[in-house]
Amino acid sequence: MKKNFNRNPEGHNQWKLRSNEEIQKIIDNHPTWTKKDFRGEGKKNKVKILTRKETEREGLIFKTSVYRKKFKNNKLQCSVCKKLKPLNEFPNDIHGWKNKKRSNCSECDIDRNFVYLDKMNSLEKKIFYKKIYENLTEQQLANKRKRQKKYYYETFNS
Ligand SMILES: [Zn+2]
Repeated sequence: MKKNFNRNPEGHNQWKLRSNEEIQKIIDNHPTWTKKDFRGEGKKNKVKILTRKETEREGLIFKTSVYRKKFKNNKLQCSVCKKLKPLNEFPNDIHGWKNKKRSNCSECDIDRNFVYLDKMNSLEKKIFYKKIYENLTEQQLANKRKRQKKYYYETFNS
């Protein structure tokens, strides 16, 4: 029998699970608070408002986050194209920022990868493409094809 090592997989016995949007709203009401403050362990607040699990959740922007100043109305400014976009349009990256989101949006990230791909051999390329295109939406795929066309046109007609 498979053993379930997670003793509390759905967070039972804790507060009702709040969505990231709800939590982000609470965070935005206290823009100077740290994670600790929200847990009631900090200097600015002694009342527990968020649980540890909630403060550790991915995709939340706290005051201490490196790009807090680039975050407005639940949108983050891409460091490349400078557009404000919702967090889900930024790729996850285990090597990236503290809250595991890249500072460049998915679209810019794909462009960046194209440059990177030029230096790969064909097998590496194949694996790499397969991996990113699995995660694209239809709209992103359409945009990609458009960009690709333009790219080849400019490359082979100059
Ligand atoms: Zn961008």
